[in-house]
Amino acid sequence: MSYRIGSGVDFHQLVEGRELWLAGVKIPHHKGALGHSDADVLLHAICDAMLGALCLGDIGTHFPDNDPAYKNIDSKVLLQKVFALISQEGYAVVNVDSTLCLESPKIKPYTAQMQELIAGIIKVTPKDVSIKATTTEKMGFVGREEGLVAYATVLLKKL
Ligand SMILES: [Zn+2]
Repeated sequence: MSYRIGSGVDFHQLVEGRELWLAGVKIPHHKGALGHSDADVLLHAICDAMLGALCLGDIGTHFPDNDPAYKNIDSKVLLQKVFALISQEGYAVVNVDSTLCLESPKIKPYTAQMQELIAGIIKVTPKDVSIKATTTEKMGFVGREEGLVAYATVLLKKL
């Protein structure tokens, strides 16, 4: 059995007047993430981890942020496309571990829904999709609520 591991990290600014999408779920908040797509930082980190596991470049290579096709696109569609790519290569996802760094809001009430959404797209069970969250104890740009960060690690196995 052949296994491959990948890691991904993503950053977005938080600004007024944008919706906050995290792991495919719209979170009520006074700020949202700025980006060309829906700026779903967690899904982007997971996409990059999946691509990285197979040395397939990164999300910016596959979905350029100057391509009008991806303007305000639902990042769940990007995750579907990345999943299709790794499937074509003959790989399946074993599990995902991820961490969101943001000062607010609390995402605990949404994590079960997030796990289910992601699991459905990448064909694993919700227990295979770990979503953790942390603040930075008010330090730095995350602490000042100027932005948010997501980290993801994905293990793939050859089918
Ligand atoms: Zn992003």
